[in-house]
Order: sequence, then structure tokens, then C-alpha cells
Amino acid sequence: MIGHLDGQSFSAVIVGAGPAGASLAIRLANAGQNVLLLEKSRFPRHKLCGEFVSPECADHFDELGIASAVKDVSPAEILETRFYTRSGRSLTIPNKWLSRSERSAIGVSRFQLDRLLMEQARDSGVVLCELSEALSPIVEMGRLTGLKVRSESGDVANVRTSVAIDASGRAQSLARHFQPDNSSSRAEVVAFKTHLSNAKIAKDVCEIYSFRGGYGGCSEVENGRFNLCFVMNSSHVRAIGNDRHAIMENGILKNTRAKEVLSDIELSDLWLTVAIPRFGRSNCCPFPGVFAVGDAAGFIDPFTGSGIALALQTAKLCAASILENGDIRNAELNYRQNYLKAVSQRMRFCRLIRVISAVPAVADNLIDLLSISPLFGKLVAKATRVGT
Ligand SMILES: Cc1cc2nc3c(=O)[nH]c(=O)nc-3n(C[C@H](O)[C@H](O)[C@H](O)COP(=O)(O)OP(=O)(O)OC[C@H]3O[C@@H](n4cnc5c(N)ncnc54)[C@H](O)[C@@H]3O)c2cc1C
Repeated sequence: MIGHLDGQSFSAVIVGAGPAGASLAIRLANAGQNVLLLEKSRFPRHKLCGEFVSPECADHFDELGIASAVKDVSPAEILETRFYTRSGRSLTIPNKWLSRSERSAIGVSRFQLDRLLMEQARDSGVVLCELSEALSPIVEMGRLTGLKVRSESGDVANVRTSVAIDASGRAQSLARHFQPDNSSSRAEVVAFKTHLSNAKIAKDVCEIYSFRGGYGGCSEVENGRFNLCFVMNSSHVRAIGNDRHAIMENGILKNTRAKEVLSDIELSDLWLTVAIPRFGRSNCCPFPGVFAVGDAAGFIDPFTGSGIALALQTAKLCAASILENGDIRNAELNYRQNYLKAVSQRMRFCRLIRVISAVPAVADNLIDLLSISPLFGKLVAKATRVGT
């Protein structure tokens, strides 16, 4: 029920309770702000993601107070990431290269991780409304004064705020009201994810497989299950048709290593599928009083396994800008500056790797080149984390 919210005033309203929104809500509430967190779905819920939680996240979990709760769900410890070319050549990167603190990565489902963050937000005093969808901003005399929100039953409430944060992921539910409409642009790639058992890979390794038209990965999450997730150019998906078995056979299973390790798998969850229109940066401050964090501000290529870390990092930057600058204009300037410093170079580098890797011969040569010396591999791994 959101009817009781009608006309209520909040210091900040956050749209979306994924890692970006929930962590931002915790940080603002811990600093004494009166925060409303809106989430259109009911948690816990499955989420399309590789569920590789990169090492930088551990420091955020400490700060957010969820480190021991994460440990309690028994995540897999993932020490290495191994990239396999189509023909089976490989390159191994120790995951501790991905963060300054040299902690290891973990595998944990978004079903659990997002639930833990949401519960921590609620315990921190955040007013949390699930099944509540932010519909549109309310702008009066050129200023943001609130948001229109709809509950599952269809009730619509107007909540009042001068600070709204878009943490709605790639949907950009709030920011899109202030920028050109890209909704008609065709999906660049289609992504697929499921959970399974019996993958024949080592417990502490995340394996990444390239194949014509895409790439995918498999690694363990909690309870001995594995996450299998892959992306494929939408033109390839259209050519193959809407048959999951054919998509597997003509996609990820064309990689010799993937075929070997996935030969006896048993699915334990349904497939999730999502179309992704584009990668890259958007506007992190699309309107006075409106901030964007996480995927809503920019979507980094999933091969880096750093989307969750980026969501947590941009939320931290946004919280600091709001809390340390009384004036909203100064907060925007500060956030924009810090956001660009943290994200721009990393996004450009990842885009470059993606373009290069799309050409199979070049991808193979790149793996050979990086294997010559651990230093090359380390430099490339670190470059996907510039700004952290
Ligand atoms: C194929 C693929 C694989 C990936 N693998 C990895 C990986 O292994 N490791 C990694 O770190 N990252 C990975 N990512 C990226 C990662 O999933 C995202 O970067 C991360 O989820 C971003 O978090 P967020 O909080 O910004 O958005 P989200 O997690 O998308 O959360 C947004 C929330 O907003 C809610 N919402 C949307 N609209 C509204 C509205 N109008 N009102 C209220 N609520 C709303 C949604 O229901 C959702 O819960 C992958 C992504 C893809 C596509």
C-alpha cells in the first residue's frame, strides 16, 4: 500500500532497490536522512547477472554492514578468472589483481545479495515500498518537487522531495524523462542466464568462453549451484530463432571448453532472458535535483564482471556528494566530476576490448599476447578497474 505516502515529504526518494539503490539508501539513512526507497518488484527475486561479485565489493559490504550476512549465505570463493578462446586456448587472471586490497571475488546469487542489501536498508530506517513503481517526476516552475508512484493495486500517490535518485538500472525509469527517447533503438545483444548443477569446472574458477557472436561465463554461487550466463549479438539470436536449445548449440557450446564442462548439466532454475539496447555512459545528473547511479548512469560490458562494484561505487560517490554539499547545485557538480573520474576511462577501455574481441582471430592473438607475460594480463585487468 502506498496510499499513506500521498503528500508525504522525504529528504531523498530512490527509484530501484538493486545494489545501487539499496546501498545508497543505507548510506543516506545512516547519515540521518529521511529516505524513501521504491522497488517495483517483490524481493527476493532472481535477476539476470553473472553473479560474479568482484573483489572491490568486499570493502563496500564492510561499510554497509552486510559482510557477515553475505558470509552466512556461503558464497563460493572465486580466486581466478580463466578466459577460453573458441579453440580452447586460455588465459588465467588471479582475481586479486582486480582490487587494491587484493581480496578475492565471490559467487553469490542476486536472489540472496539483493535481499540482504534490501533488508539492511530497511533495518537502517529507510522507508521501503516494494511493488511500487515510480511513474514520473513532478516538476513545478522548473524545479523537481516530487514523484508520482503507482502501487500494484493501481493506486497512485504523489510523494514530495527535491532530491530523486534514479537507481532503476538500464530502464532509467526516471532519467529517461529528461533525455531523448531511445526506446525504439534495436537491442545490441540479448543476454541469457540460469542456475544449474554438474558443471565440470573447479569451484574457485570463473570460466569465460568466447564464441561467434558472443561470449558467456560459468562459475559457482552458493549451495554448490553454478551460474551460466551468456550474451549474443541480437542478429545471431534472430537468425537462430527463439529456441533455447538451438541458441546453446549454435552459441556457447561452439566453444570447445564450454562443450566439455557443460555436457552433463542439470538446470535448477528457469532461463531468464533480456535484450540490451546499448552499453556505455549516460547522464549522471539529468535534471536539477535528479541523480543517476549504477546502470541507470552507465552500463559497463558484463565481461568485466564489475557492474555490481560500479553500482556500489557510484552510489557511494552520490551519497557523499549529497551529504557533503548542502546546496544541490554543488552536489551535482561534485558528483558529476567524481563520477566521470571513476567511470569514463574504464568504460572506454572496456568498449575497446569488446570491439577487438569481436574479431575471433584478433581475440585469439590477444590471449596469446597477454599470456606472454603476466605483466600484460595484469595491466589489462587493472585497466578495467581504473578509477576504483
Ligand atoms: C548478461 C549480464 C551479466 C552480468 N554479469 C555480471 C557479473 O557477473 N558481475 C557483476 O558485477 N555485474 C554483472 N552484470 C551487471 C550487473 O547485473 C548490473 O551492473 C547491476 O545489476 C547494476 O545494479 P543497479 O542497482 O544499478 O541496477 P539493477 O540491479 O538493475 O536494479 C534496478 C532495480 O530497479 C527496479 N526498478 C526499475 N524501474 C523501476 C521503477 N520505475 N520503479 C521502481 N523500481 C524500479 C528494478 O526492479 C530493479 O530491482 C551483468 C549484466 C548482464 C546484463
